[in-house]
Amino acid sequence: MTIQRRAFLAATGLLATPRLARAQQAGRLVILGGGFGGASAARFARDHHPRLDVTLVERGARFTTCPYGNLVLAGRRDVESITFGYEGLAARGVRVVRQSVAAVDAGRKRLRLADGAELPYDRLIMSPGIDLRWGAVEGYDEAAAARMPHGWIPALQQVTVLRRQMEAMPEGGVFVMTIPDNPFRCPPGPYERICMVAEYLKRAKPRAKLIALDAKNGFSKQPLFQDAWRELYPGIVEWRGASEDGRVVRVRPAAMEVETEFGDKVKGDVVNVIPPQMAARVARDAGLADESGWCPVKPETMESARAPDIHVIGDACIAAPMPKSGFAASSHAKHAVACAAASLAGREPPAATYFNTCYSHVGPDYGISIVGVYRGTPQRMEEVPGSGGISPRTAALGERAAEHRRLEALYADGWYESITREMFGIA
Ligand SMILES: Cc1cc2nc3c(=O)[nH]c(=O)nc-3n(C[C@H](O)[C@H](O)[C@H](O)COP(=O)(O)OP(=O)(O)OC[C@H]3O[C@@H](n4cnc5c(N)ncnc54)[C@H](O)[C@@H]3O)c2cc1C
Repeated sequence: MTIQRRAFLAATGLLATPRLARAQQAGRLVILGGGFGGASAARFARDHHPRLDVTLVERGARFTTCPYGNLVLAGRRDVESITFGYEGLAARGVRVVRQSVAAVDAGRKRLRLADGAELPYDRLIMSPGIDLRWGAVEGYDEAAAARMPHGWIPALQQVTVLRRQMEAMPEGGVFVMTIPDNPFRCPPGPYERICMVAEYLKRAKPRAKLIALDAKNGFSKQPLFQDAWRELYPGIVEWRGASEDGRVVRVRPAAMEVETEFGDKVKGDVVNVIPPQMAARVARDAGLADESGWCPVKPETMESARAPDIHVIGDACIAAPMPKSGFAASSHAKHAVACAAASLAGREPPAATYFNTCYSHVGPDYGISIVGVYRGTPQRMEEVPGSGGISPRTAALGERAAEHRRLEALYADGWYESITREMFGIA
């Protein structure tokens, strides 16, 4: 450990906390991952549990959100406008440690950081997100992703590469997108992406086509997306589900070609492969994932089903029927913090209610959404009957349709603004 780092940890009480100082703390809450779940947890813990000692460990200096990445593809946003730093959280008293976590020692209740330092915790909240399953689609590895970008993890470069490829695409060219089976990050995300790419093509390359090859037959907000493709992008968007041989099993980056289950070969000028996914490595290495690659949790507290004193939240955990969304991760975060604080204070955890809303932009002044409220019980996570639903279809809205869609697009922007301000301690 460097002297600087030792001095930092000693100054913050993390290295060897004197008994007196410890007694004044309600406990050491360490949060792994500064994305939607982790940053939200840090903010909520700092604001609502002032006696907790809150440390956030994140490997990146800045965080580029996946939400609104599709708007970068449409040319409506730039990457800088969806990228945030951790100064706001630090200014609010969150101890931000910029390090990669090499290992979680659940037995000794410590994290081992990449620089060799150890970080002890009383309670750990992990929100490390996802990894891509390289090789699950034959031929799709990290080298292939340079030619056939996924744009599916907060990797600024990937969205930028995809956008540049779209700009370089010839008029009359083909954009191919491959979509995985459930579960995966952001169930409506690929379909919002279809819309945002189509919006760009309609404007910049009106003779181009987008072919989406899907490993499943049904998807989130399907009737609304399909209405929008017919209304806004006729002749541009073609979607093929699994029963129409849409499942892609192989890619050939050199030929910019993908191959389906039954041998159809589809070539694209741009090929966007969204591969199958799993919980991020740090969670799998810690033994927190099951054979599915995702982490089972107790729905009433978001505690790991596999290790004590650890909550696993966000995309990495199994919280179905909740979707893997940023909104859901933030909702898990608030409940996990409340449960951690209660447990450290020797109290019972509060009742578990979680929320989700996923907005999608589908065209100019045209937004749609899906909403759900969920209850975590010792047996399962369940949607509260009658609590949610999707936006009405255009036919049902009649002459109010345009105004309704315009308002939903505004609500989407409001949601993005408020969740990012909350997560990053901006206001
Ligand atoms: C195209 C697209 C559009 C989307 N749109 C929406 C939307 O409109 N609304 C919505 O609610 N959701 C949306 N999502 C989903 C949303 O991005 C995810 O659900 C959300 O990011 C999950 O939060 P998380 O905290 O689990 O993971 P992340 O936000 O990915 O955060 C994980 C963090 O952990 C860090 N980390 C991982 N391992 C380590 C380690 N070993 N050491 C240190 N740090 C580590 C990572 O660097 C990262 O910062 C979208 C996703 C995509 C791909």
